[in-house]
Amino acid sequence: MTHAEVVVVGAGFAGLAAVMALRAQGIEDVVVLERAASLGGTWRDNTYPGVACDVPSHLYGFAGHPNPRWSGVFARGDEIRAYLEHVAAAERIAPWLETPMLDARWDAGAWRIRTGGARPGKLTADALVLACGRLTEPRIPDIPGLESFPGPMFHSARWDHRAALDGARVGVIGTGASAVQLVPQLARTADVTLFQRTPAWIVPREDRPYTPAEQATFAAHPDALARLRDELYREGEARYASRSGDADAAAAARAVALTHLHTQVADPALRAVLTPDYAFGLQAGRCCRTRSTRRWPPARYDWSRRPSPPSPAARSSPRPAPGTTWTCWCWPPGSSRPASRTPSWCTARPARSPSTGTAA
Ligand SMILES: Cc1cc2nc3c(=O)[nH]c(=O)nc-3n(C[C@H](O)[C@H](O)[C@H](O)COP(=O)(O)OP(=O)(O)OC[C@H]3O[C@@H](n4cnc5c(N)ncnc54)[C@H](O)[C@@H]3O)c2cc1C
Repeated sequence: MTHAEVVVVGAGFAGLAAVMALRAQGIEDVVVLERAASLGGTWRDNTYPGVACDVPSHLYGFAGHPNPRWSGVFARGDEIRAYLEHVAAAERIAPWLETPMLDARWDAGAWRIRTGGARPGKLTADALVLACGRLTEPRIPDIPGLESFPGPMFHSARWDHRAALDGARVGVIGTGASAVQLVPQLARTADVTLFQRTPAWIVPREDRPYTPAEQATFAAHPDALARLRDELYREGEARYASRSGDADAAAAARAVALTHLHTQVADPALRAVLTPDYAFGLQAGRCCRTRSTRRWPPARYDWSRRPSPPSPAARSSPRPAPGTTWTCWCWPPGSSRPASRTPSWCTARPARSPSTGTAA
């Protein structure tokens, strides 16, 4: 039976960081278990249109592996995945791929770990590091009838690239960070209806590509890159204060988000629907991630079918109460008004008249 000083489970950012930190302590005897066929975690699994980080790229990486070649302020998902592959190769980290940890128990002074997949069997370890990720398992909402929906249906973390979405009517459920990235992309060519339960605080995202000259400067001057990273870190910390309850910082950030909303949405009724009723960065007393984009809502809003703001009860419910209307957008910018649409709450019979929702 194999014995390792440490077994790390997961080969995403956290797993790679754990190996590097262990080696820095002189611990070399480490086995990394990864259930998938390649490393990268989040950045391997999320391939939806527009996927990118929303922490600036030069901060969203390992300090010991700066990357002067990030294409822009917020790197795309495929670049981040390639970066992780690069770091693993540079550090000679070779996870046991396609080898899930099935279970582990502490017994007689050692971890006893059972593995499956490509290397089924048992191994023991003195210490076990779980770097399995927090968002690893897609969560599909429990919507009655979902299983009988006849069209393609998938979670954003398992994007089905074979699905023909150009010109299709697409319902997107949720206004989380992934929706904020993918809806503007989808709305270029598809007729998108967005189902919002809880509006999000959205601040403008200062994204832009780096020029070749900037990339060359970063490559030639690692010290300048390190300074940029420090600056981004300080900015990030200041922003964190606005999320974690510092009243002044939160008020300033809230003002930025509201100004952004006013700039983007002229219609006061829609603005009301899009304005969160919880404190900036805090929801029910918990830290709540804010979103950043310049393109939200992503397309025009149909005045003639203005939805009424959902009731507070409906806002907190996973399903709309009968008669509730929901915020829905949008159709490709530049196109004429969309044909009549009748989406209900992701109904299994999309052609039927809605009983619980009103389309924009
Ligand atoms: C679309 C998206 C954008 C994001 N953007 C940002 C951002 O800008 N900034 C930020 O800070 N965070 C962001 N996050 C959060 C992101 O998940 C983390 O930053 C980070 O990538 C998590 O890394 P991780 O290693 O903890 O987990 P993961 O990346 O989820 O990796 C976990 C790994 O463990 C493996 N695993 C799980 N169970 C087992 C098992 N039993 N046996 C073997 N292997 C197993 C998985 O296959 C996976 O490879 C984003 C998340 C998403 C989904």
